[in-house]
Amino acid sequence: MTYRTHTCGELRLVDAGKRVVLSGWVRRLRDLGSMIFIDLRDRYGITQLAFDESRSELMDAARKLGREFVIRIEGEVVERASKNPQLPTGDIEVKVESLEVLNVSEIPPFLIEDETDGGEELRMKYRYLDIRRNPVKNNLIFRSKVTQAVRNYLIDRGFVDIETPYLIKSTPEGARDFVVPSRLHPGQFYALPQSPQTFKQLLMVGGMDKYMQIVKCFRDEDLRADRQPEFTQIDCEMSFVTREDVLRTFEGLLRHLLIQFHDFDPGPFPRLSYEEAMERYGSDKPDIRFGMELADITAVAQTRDFGVFNQAEYVGAISVSGAAGYSRKQLNEITDWVKRPQVGAKGLVWVKYREDGSFKSTVDKFFTMDDYQKWAEKADAKPGDLILILSGDKDKTRRQLGLLRMEMAERLGLRKPDIFAPLWILDFPLLEWDEETGRYHAMHHPFTSPKPEDIHLLDSTPEKVRANAYDLVLNGNEIAGGSIRIHDRKLQEKMFELLGFSREEAERQFGFLMNAFQYGAPPHGGIAWGLDRLVAILAGKESIRDFIAFPKNNAGRDVMIDAPDYISPEQLKELHLEVKSPSKINN
Ligand code: ASP
Repeated sequence: MTYRTHTCGELRLVDAGKRVVLSGWVRRLRDLGSMIFIDLRDRYGITQLAFDESRSELMDAARKLGREFVIRIEGEVVERASKNPQLPTGDIEVKVESLEVLNVSEIPPFLIEDETDGGEELRMKYRYLDIRRNPVKNNLIFRSKVTQAVRNYLIDRGFVDIETPYLIKSTPEGARDFVVPSRLHPGQFYALPQSPQTFKQLLMVGGMDKYMQIVKCFRDEDLRADRQPEFTQIDCEMSFVTREDVLRTFEGLLRHLLIQFHDFDPGPFPRLSYEEAMERYGSDKPDIRFGMELADITAVAQTRDFGVFNQAEYVGAISVSGAAGYSRKQLNEITDWVKRPQVGAKGLVWVKYREDGSFKSTVDKFFTMDDYQKWAEKADAKPGDLILILSGDKDKTRRQLGLLRMEMAERLGLRKPDIFAPLWILDFPLLEWDEETGRYHAMHHPFTSPKPEDIHLLDSTPEKVRANAYDLVLNGNEIAGGSIRIHDRKLQEKMFELLGFSREEAERQFGFLMNAFQYGAPPHGGIAWGLDRLVAILAGKESIRDFIAFPKNNAGRDVMIDAPDYISPEQLKELHLEVKSPSKINN
């Protein structure tokens, strides 16, 4: 009648003697001739089923079962002769008295076990089978717990969960839009939101005061490892807040999550300006679980006849603790690493600070022990350390050193997944000059307000204006970012002008927002978190794909449903799009 009285993870010794009904999947069948054992699996666990010779017709039926068949059994819970302490249900088994096959299964293309033989692509193609495996299943359950905790925390603090539309027009977050052709409006398109940015601001104009939403965002970006074209944000906005109010609220949220899931209180979050982060870490998302800070050694490195340094705007160093003993091969490897196009350094100078206090370097022809001593002091190097030096354009070189710092930390195992080191990065530049287009870009987005004390620089030196923006960084990842917004029509117009929009363009694209600002827009600000990344880090993992039920692969494809795909000529026509030849469509 009913499918189950208990789940497969539930029965214990105290249940012995009970008659139960269980349903689930056949994980494994062991036929010992006079006995058959089956591991029956569902989301909650595994229960051993036992068949014995007293019911030979049942044994015959059991022998016909295959892996992943779906069955329903009735039977009696009995204490096991040989217990399995690995399994929560390992003290008991169910002596089967009736067996019903609910569904048969093909032989699965890979082992549905914690350790599987299936490669990534195969597992993605059969993701529904992958989800039956504990590692994937547990990640999804963990994600659900995190979203629940986030929602509770925010709702308890007066946030209202409000849905915003998916069929909208462009919201610039620095990526391309995914667009949806309109059938009813020939030649017109919706855009999928890169974020609900403008809507959450309009909710503030609407007086909602505190908004939150766990929401899908869509960005058509060039593919990078571990990026998803659709991803989830915890999106928030608040009215009548200063930067301090926002930082305090969301620092509270992350602390709450770290305590709830790891019993880890990170203490007050350090705050660094963008400029300081670049100077000390060569990154605007520094991992501060370890030191190895960048040292500016320009002044003490441009003292000899070494052209590479003398011509450089900046000479910077990091000191790698205990690495003075690196072999030639290891050093060559690191040199090759910094020359990779993704890093882009031209070369690497290294100085070994030997245990005996002497130095050995690639530039011994040019420099003396005294020179090295000065560098070592600046870089805070001790005997036994390896000093790595890059030089060139200041911004670029600092970034390269920042990447090298992370790489060395990775090699030395300094990025410990069970330590959490959050920090705020503040005072980003408002604008970024883009060489290619010869225009300014909003570093955050065009709705971010300048710091009030910098507004007077908007006309004269816009590149010096700092934004009232903030990023939350955790273990070297940007996990949230936001800003105090512009809420004044004039300032917003000015911003669009700086970004190279004509009046008409700005009006056509964002007139609705600027109009709203004329009807009593309150001062407001907010933040959005990358939920996928947050969950992965909280679980101590790197890949966000493992925490998404149905992710896209690195080429942006869903290999299970095979999307994107061509559509029929009829559908194209209906959408007023160019009709391609059928041969192309069957391609
Ligand atoms: N909409 C922004 C983003 O997606 C976040 C914010 O400013 O609240 O990055």
